[in-house]
Amino acid sequence: MSEKIIGIDLGTTNSEVALSIEGKIEIVVIDGHEQLPSVVGLSENGTLLIGTPAKNQYALYPERTIRSVKRAMGSDQRFTLGDNEYSPQEISAMILRRLKEAAEARLGEPVSKAVITVPAFFSDAQRQATRDAGAIAGLEVVRIINEPTAAALTYEGIQQGEKTVLVYDLGGGTFDVSVVQIEGEHVEVVASHGNNHLGGDDFDQKIVDHLVAHLSAQHGVDPTTSLQAMARIQRAAEAAKIALSDAPYTRIEEEHLLTQEGTPIHLSLELNRHDYEEMIEPFVTETLEAVHIALKEAGLTVSDLDEVLLVGGTTRTPIIARQLEEILRIQPRSELNPDLCVAAGAAIQAAVIAGEQATGVLVDITPYTFGINALDYAEGMIYPYVFSPLIRKNSVIPTTKSEVFYTAYDNQTTVEINVYQGESRDALQNTKIGSFLIEGLSKAPEGNPIICTFSLDLDGILHVAAQEKISGKEKSITISNAIARFDEAQMDAAKLRIDRMFAEEGEIISPEQEHNREVVQAKALLEKARSLLDSSEGDNREDLIDQIETLEDALAGEDEQVLLEAIGEISDLLYYLES
Ligand code: AMP
Repeated sequence: MSEKIIGIDLGTTNSEVALSIEGKIEIVVIDGHEQLPSVVGLSENGTLLIGTPAKNQYALYPERTIRSVKRAMGSDQRFTLGDNEYSPQEISAMILRRLKEAAEARLGEPVSKAVITVPAFFSDAQRQATRDAGAIAGLEVVRIINEPTAAALTYEGIQQGEKTVLVYDLGGGTFDVSVVQIEGEHVEVVASHGNNHLGGDDFDQKIVDHLVAHLSAQHGVDPTTSLQAMARIQRAAEAAKIALSDAPYTRIEEEHLLTQEGTPIHLSLELNRHDYEEMIEPFVTETLEAVHIALKEAGLTVSDLDEVLLVGGTTRTPIIARQLEEILRIQPRSELNPDLCVAAGAAIQAAVIAGEQATGVLVDITPYTFGINALDYAEGMIYPYVFSPLIRKNSVIPTTKSEVFYTAYDNQTTVEINVYQGESRDALQNTKIGSFLIEGLSKAPEGNPIICTFSLDLDGILHVAAQEKISGKEKSITISNAIARFDEAQMDAAKLRIDRMFAEEGEIISPEQEHNREVVQAKALLEKARSLLDSSEGDNREDLIDQIETLEDALAGEDEQVLLEAIGEISDLLYYLES
């Protein structure tokens, strides 16, 4: 067997290493995480720290901690650690060594070759510095590939055909957007534009500024004089930012943050997504302008794009996908972990070079959008059944998303939550999969916020909760089989159809096989009939209930003829109801 080649994303904020195992791409776990912070430091007693321990000490000991070394690659900048000075290549080599060791531990064998990714805009000198860093770490860099190319490889695989893909990459400290042209095995970055001093760290800083201003206004204290307090504020700000990607509100709590004349000062503040989005709006606008510039440089327009891919942890901020979709009219793809898809692409490339079979990365995603109906404007009129998605199609599962909705009139004490699955803007065109009432709400003016939370797990179980924000009063339901309910039935029916076609070709079917097929068909029909119950009324509903009972009895019984007849009758009824 040829020697394993590993794939490395050597990032400004975080780095990752991936490899292919039996054709599947796997991200190597380091200290329990798939990401290694690209931070190097020296501890108090002089030991070398790489990754999370170094990141943790940064706020307290910036003088012996090095971050963002990637920005210095190819320059003659020097970094001091203890009594020694190091080049950017050497600091990067320390991170690469850690990644190499983790890959070796995973494989149980030594590794000496790697594919490493770099930004499309990296100059020759920066690429050479990256190769040198690899060599210092004991890794022969068999190929350097562009990060957007790697991301495109992960999404598209090695394929036939042509495609034009926009890769929008917003990480912790850098932003770039690239137009990538794919023609069979040939993947090329045709234009790239960005700002290598823009990223999630700037988003954190906006929240930090907000918290500092709050402490000053509320308590008359200035935390910036305490490194310790600022380190805590920094961490709390990042955590709040991440929480706001999935929820409309978050509470920031830091007890005993400071003392003022002997009295402890606690930080306690709620931040909502709307205010946060206003804080980061200028950054988001800048990135959207860069998208237009990259398209222009590539000589393309929006309509030439086939796909938009999201890369980098910061693209989990929902306003980004929303605004990109608005300007590009394509729903950006984010089903692959945006932090990991560059490393995965490097590993795919590495496997190809090593002569291995490599498939893409498999993830679990939901094939449907889930949401509720809300009172909103549709075609200029107020309409109570505007579909408000919470979990969008192609989201990676498990996932939890919350949104805030408001009561429609004063003293509204009851809200009905209807849960739908589907893609139409009109909830009534989608499939209703559950509903419940939340009652006994406070007597409040209209606009009383109700937080609705959807959690979808890998087994397709959807948990829906509604909570009145001011009282905390909550009600929830669990819908099992939210994903599989129609798919399976359709799949079974398709299987049956195909089987029949083969049978008609002359294959002999045993009575037992025939019976099994009928059971499968009956179950699919039952599933379908039950799903139509909610939307049927009057006689239709009565008929459905009758037929469901008849078929259930027939299934439980032994008589083949009765079962066949029940299948026939319910098929006719469903045909009638659906046409
Ligand atoms: P990367 O360098 O691609 O790993 O991106 C790291 C950046 O992504 C950091 O600024 C993180 O705070 C940010 N990030 C990670 N998860 C989320 C999230 N769920 N929402 C918003 N930003 C996130």
